[in-house]
Amino acid sequence: MIRTGAQPQASPLWWQGQPAPVVLPAMQTGEPLPARVDVLIVGAGYTGLAAARETAAAGHTTLVLDGRAVGAGCSSRNGGQVAHSIKPTFAALTRRHGADLARRIHAEARDAVAHLRHLAVQERLDCDWQPHGCFHGAHTRRHFAAMIAALRGQPPGSEQRVSIVTQAEQRSEIDTDFYHGGCVYHDDAAIDPPRLMRALLARAQQQGARIVDHCAVTALQRTRAGFEIETGRGRIAARKVLLATNGYTGVLSAWHRRRVIPIGSYQIATERLGRDRVRALIPRGRNITDSRRVVVYFRPSPDGERIVFGGRASLDEQDPLVCVPRLRRMLGGIFPQLRNVAITHAWAGFVAYTFDTLPHLGQTDGLYYCMGYCGQGVPLAPYFGMRIGQQMADLPEGRTALDGLAFPARPLYFGKPWFLAGSVLTYRLLDSLGL
Ligand SMILES: Cc1cc2nc3c(=O)[nH]c(=O)nc-3n(C[C@H](O)[C@H](O)[C@H](O)COP(=O)(O)OP(=O)(O)OC[C@H]3O[C@@H](n4cnc5c(N)ncnc54)[C@H](O)[C@@H]3O)c2cc1C
Repeated sequence: MIRTGAQPQASPLWWQGQPAPVVLPAMQTGEPLPARVDVLIVGAGYTGLAAARETAAAGHTTLVLDGRAVGAGCSSRNGGQVAHSIKPTFAALTRRHGADLARRIHAEARDAVAHLRHLAVQERLDCDWQPHGCFHGAHTRRHFAAMIAALRGQPPGSEQRVSIVTQAEQRSEIDTDFYHGGCVYHDDAAIDPPRLMRALLARAQQQGARIVDHCAVTALQRTRAGFEIETGRGRIAARKVLLATNGYTGVLSAWHRRRVIPIGSYQIATERLGRDRVRALIPRGRNITDSRRVVVYFRPSPDGERIVFGGRASLDEQDPLVCVPRLRRMLGGIFPQLRNVAITHAWAGFVAYTFDTLPHLGQTDGLYYCMGYCGQGVPLAPYFGMRIGQQMADLPEGRTALDGLAFPARPLYFGKPWFLAGSVLTYRLLDSLGL
């Protein structure tokens, strides 16, 4: 008999006891918007805020607008896992783009983690940096063998600090027999999502960027001098515009909508289990992910009292509360000892996948963009946001290995992922067959 307890709260655990998403003084005083700025950024998540800091620091008047509260998108809802975050393997990227570019793209993914580590450790950014690493579990014996082969296929000199954990050794990482061994990524870390968001907001504001919430951009029009922008609070002219809307990219640009696939990611938090019990489940306090195609990720909560568990919980987009039973079953599959715990919070947000599973940044018809982190934007969005801001400020350090890569679309795709249910079903079937 499963004890469900009271109905979970339909909001992120992280928002408990914190003013997140942020409501800004600008909104409260209702100050008028400027008629003209150098740079206008659509979207106040990690990407938009990181970009704004760079353009403002370079002396450009910068305005960031968000249609909802600041950080109301993924940036205050995510799981807080910081990982080496480029999806395609080195071998796959080499086949597509050649070994040199593959090496540079993987190096840049490492730079993204190093950048966030630098902000947290050297610049003391208040984001609750926890450098505990990640255990990546093998769902089958075959996956375990493939993990070892993939590690051997990494380019020389670029290995992350990774160790293999056999099934016999696994209990030192996680109190389950569910996995067939795995590997530990020692350089991975965890952060507190809204704290990172507020810290990036403060960095942007310190450089003079202005951030306004609850002010949606409703239309963009190209002009000779840049763009005319329509907002819920009047028109603005800007020399340069950045779309930093990731999984919330709407009708503003049909070109971008055809290139990003919004996919819901769902999370639950258990009731307080107590630190000792959580330590017994995940002795080293690491993030946990696994090798299944339908993504699963979990970790101890920042206070070490709960398990925060996430994944793709439905075939189509659902109310997060509807997904609780499925996520609870997934959690209970890994930890049978948690089958009866109460779930206190459930929430979701839209991540942005791309057809080549790479992030993309650059400009098209003068409109700058930076998006498509494929569910791994905690390190990638602050990093590539910084780089696109530097590009907008014409700074040479803004160059990246991803510059100039084609941003692929697909025939018959216009922004509504009609193929998602079929893909999730196929992936679930392959996962259940252990393939
Ligand atoms: C449940 C969940 C768990 C996740 N876990 C992890 C994790 O553990 N590790 C990891 O690396 N990544 C994770 N992610 C992904 C990560 O959070 C995102 O990749 C990252 O936050 C993207 O940041 P962003 O600034 O690009 O987009 P967002 O934070 O989503 O911001 C986009 C903003 O654009 C605004 N916007 C859209 N249209 C308009 C408009 N017309 N006018 C004004 N504003 C507009 C939206 O309101 C939104 O605030 C997770 C995501 C979710 C949902």
